[in-house]
Amino acid sequence: MESRIATMLGFWKLCFPLCLALVGCGDVLPPSSIDLPPRFRPLTTLKQSRSVPRDVLATRGSTCYTGDVGAFLAHDDVDRSSVLVHEALHAARQLADHRGVDGWMRQYETDDAFVFDEERLGWAVEIEYLVRHGRAVNFDKVADAMSTLYPSRTGSGSVFDREGSRAWAISVAEEALK
Ligand SMILES: [Zn+2]
Repeated sequence: MESRIATMLGFWKLCFPLCLALVGCGDVLPPSSIDLPPRFRPLTTLKQSRSVPRDVLATRGSTCYTGDVGAFLAHDDVDRSSVLVHEALHAARQLADHRGVDGWMRQYETDDAFVFDEERLGWAVEIEYLVRHGRAVNFDKVADAMSTLYPSRTGSGSVFDREGSRAWAISVAEEALK
């Protein structure tokens, strides 16, 4: 499971932030919506959405969405929590934005530099969470995810380059260990 972060691969651009992706299988009928523990505030709810791929979480305001709630719940607490702290950070910044959540979203959909800054904040707390809970971070997989999850809003290519993302992720993890 130490490479669970490695599963954040190959995702899709939607009209809202796409963060982690966890690959898993749910054995039982999943709930379509779950209440999240208070430690993830201002996030309150995880909902299933056909608009979001199975292995992706996306956040708008106090709700995050995924294509398969059961698959998400199949992961252990550290893995789930690392993603949710990332999403909770997006939620907090969206809700605090003076333009409102919609204003944050509009900029996220159109501004590469904004995506770069906001996602680095999210990934940083996610990586820090994993490191502080004893997980080895697979930096190649993080770099793969960062460089494929966020296509440029203004041209071709990605918001993040792979090698730069890898080096940055290592620096975040090293700092978290100090
Ligand atoms: Zn994110």
